[in-house]
Parts: sequence; structure tokens; C-alpha cells
Amino acid sequence: MPEQTSARVGLAPARGKNLDELRRSNLSLALGLIHRRGRLARSELTRELGLNRSTIAALVTELVARGLAVESMPTATGHVGRPSLTITPSQSIAAIAVRPEVDAVTIALVGLGGRVVREVRYDTSGVPSAREVATIVRAIVEGMAITESMSYDIHGVGLAIPGLVRASDGLVVFAPHLGWRDEPLARKLAEQTGFEVSAANDALCGAIAEFTFGAGQGATDMVYLHGGPSGIGGGIVVDGSLVSGAHGYAGELGHTLVNSLGALCHCGATGCLEAEVRREPLLTAVGLDGAHADSLRPALQAALDAGTRPDVRGSRPRTGDHARDRPA
Ligand SMILES: [Zn+2]
Repeated sequence: MPEQTSARVGLAPARGKNLDELRRSNLSLALGLIHRRGRLARSELTRELGLNRSTIAALVTELVARGLAVESMPTATGHVGRPSLTITPSQSIAAIAVRPEVDAVTIALVGLGGRVVREVRYDTSGVPSAREVATIVRAIVEGMAITESMSYDIHGVGLAIPGLVRASDGLVVFAPHLGWRDEPLARKLAEQTGFEVSAANDALCGAIAEFTFGAGQGATDMVYLHGGPSGIGGGIVVDGSLVSGAHGYAGELGHTLVNSLGALCHCGATGCLEAEVRREPLLTAVGLDGAHADSLRPALQAALDAGTRPDVRGSRPRTGDHARDRPA
């Protein structure tokens, strides 16, 4: 991912060229902070953005007027002094998140503040083509736009792709498990739905989401591992920034060598983490299929609690078998 350069997950210093640009940049920073925190006092916003109180008051007034944020009186905190007004993201602003995989396309309506409002998993009969994914997404998004339009203002679509995505225009350069090469899915969906559509690598999206709303919230450094039917991806955050590495592969932890006598990986190497640890044998061992992958963790825990040790080795040909046969 050479073009997916280091991206700041948190606040980015902005330098507006003129007053209007500065105001827009400050509005963006304020909304970003409200989105990531879910709720914060006006005094916190003032402190974190390093702006004076009257500027913050003007920014919040504009965000509220645009229907992006809501300001309310805080509940009693027991603190001495004048209570600071509380700002929360608007409940009516949402985006559509799409994750195509080898066995299904998952589509979710996600509200500002990171709240998943609704999630639909559409099982495909086989590995879907980009054209099939576009058709499925269009149908489900149109359905959501109709049924949810009373309460949600949908602002765009984001695609989380298990593969290499060009950051500049969302072109799927290569998705090995889906068998896609140079697929302009984001551009086509934008044309077909009229929404703004962006795309990125799924593990990268997962890392940002986990850092912002999940286990990494409040941390400055994080290593994220992402396991799905397409293998293992990852992301590394150092000092609040996603690390891309010299060639953009810093987060490709699925291709870390873990067994030099291990299974052959689709990348051509032997014994990669992704080739050694797969979801499929884990699901099979506890009698689940891909559609019930969310139940994997409790099912494995139940099996272990019951004293059974599920065989999760699978039956993939191992290059190590040949290596051992070879004369020294
Ligand atoms: Zn590999």
C-alpha cells in the first residue's frame, strides 16, 4: 500500500489560508472530536482545540444550526462552579459501511458518533464479483434509504476491502481472496447511488475504528489484528498515527513468518501467520459456518470449558512435509 501513507487518527494541525478556510477547518476539527468522543463538555472542546471561548461558542452554534450536533444542559456532576454545556453528535446523521467478503457482503447504517444503527449480512452463493457487490449494495442501500429516511440523513458510503486499495481514488488494486484486480468499485457505486463513496483496506478501517471507538480508545499506541474469512490483516498506531512503513506494508501482520516448515501462503511465502491460523478450521471444529462467525468466540470458550480440545489444525498441505523429506 505505497499510497496509504501515515494518517493521523486524532487531531490534525490545520493551517487555514484565510478566515473562511480557518473557520471550516475549525468546524471540521470540532465535529471530528464530537464524533470520536460521543459526548463532551463545551469547556473540554475549548481546552482540546486550544481556541478561545467565543470562537468555540460560534463553532458550536454553527454545528447545531447545520443539524450536526446537539447542545444540552449537563446532568448534575457534583462539581463546584458553573456547569459547562454538553455537546453530542446529531442522532440523524449517518453513513453506510460496506464490507465485501468471500462468502457475504455486510452492510451497516452507522450514525455520527460511531453508533451502528442497523446491520445486514447478505450471504453470497460463492465469492462475489465487484459487479455483484455493487448490485447487492445498491439494493440494500436503496432499501435503507427508504425505510430509514424518516430518521436518518445518509451522507456517504465507505467500503472496507480485504485487499490493496489506492488511497487517492479508492481503486481496488488487488484483492487476492476475492480475485479482484483494478476494480473501480467506489467510482461505480458513486455513479449508481449518487452518494459519495470512499474505499480503504479493511484492516486499516478496523484499526482506525478500534483506536477511535474500541479497545484502543484513549491509548497512544496500538497493534491491531483483524481476522476474517480472507485471512489476517492488521494495523499499527504509534503516537496517534497509523504507521504505513517504507513501502506501505507495516500493518500486513498476516504475512509475518511464524512457522518456517508451515503451510504455503497465497503470497508465495511459507508459514505466514495467515496461512497457519485460519478461521475456517476454527468454525468447523465447533460446528459453525461463516454466517455464524460472530458466535465463534463463545462456542470455542464453551468447548474449552467442557474440557474438549477442538482440532483446529485443518488439512491444508504443508510445505514442511516436503522439506522434511528432502535430503539434507
Ligand atoms: Zn503470506
